Amino acid sequence: MPELPEVETMVRGVREAMTGRTLKSLEMVPCDCKPIQLSPTLKTIQKRLTRTKILAVERFAKRIVIVHSTGERLVIEPRMTGLMLLNDPPDPDHLRLKWTFTGRKQPQNVWFWDRRGLATCRLYSETDWRKWRESGTIGPDALEVDAEEWRERIKLSRRAVKVAMLDQKTVAGIGNLYASEILHVSQVHPETRCRQLTRQQIERIAENTQHVLREAIRYEGSTLSDGTYRNALNKSGGYQNQHRVYAREGEACPTCEQATIQRIVQAQRSTFFCPCCQSKRRRKR
Ligand SMILES: [Zn+2]
Repeated sequence: MPELPEVETMVRGVREAMTGRTLKSLEMVPCDCKPIQLSPTLKTIQKRLTRTKILAVERFAKRIVIVHSTGERLVIEPRMTGLMLLNDPPDPDHLRLKWTFTGRKQPQNVWFWDRRGLATCRLYSETDWRKWRESGTIGPDALEVDAEEWRERIKLSRRAVKVAMLDQKTVAGIGNLYASEILHVSQVHPETRCRQLTRQQIERIAENTQHVLREAIRYEGSTLSDGTYRNALNKSGGYQNQHRVYAREGEACPTCEQATIQRIVQAQRSTFFCPCCQSKRRRKR
């Protein structure tokens, strides 16, 4: 958390406020907590970006990409608890970065807030960003992968499909929450080994990845019981009310209305699924 839909919501939330603006300053807000990781140093980032114009605010997988007129990209990975905000932070103690723009247009500021401080913020030249994208450090964005590419990327793997879906090198943007949701709608048992998936199962995973993530974006992401994730206006998302299995252990499955949702642990993470809709034996045909 946050995953692709939450980061997309953050990007959409600040895009209009940032695009076309000239950066007057980018500062670190004084904060008693462990500082977020900046690379290179704040001083260098300031030197390279101050007085440049922001051309676009984009998303790549679970990262916010701020494109400057110099071609440079300031890339923020919110990790566990990072948020992009226009104003009204959940609390003032965990504000981390403050953008100030020239001109009189409102808002004058955009903020990055992070309770746990695990976020990273990195400046890339245009060339370095392209090289990094092409290096395969992380795979293609989950909204851009079709069934054929899914198949190519997982067909030889012995790993359980849920574990493979969390690997950002396979497909980027899906995390623990949406992996469970996608597999439930796709009627695939989360422990199925990738190489044993049928063509139809992979097609369903590809299709439902698009469907579930786009639906979650429409609801502005999921705010879980810890309340951490908020949109740019410090409001909760709405997709948590649409979850079919995530954190619903013991509840009736909304699809078959027969079985109860179960929780298992895979690669130290909780997986939720319906033993009836996602039976292991359903595989062939
Ligand atoms: Zn079911």
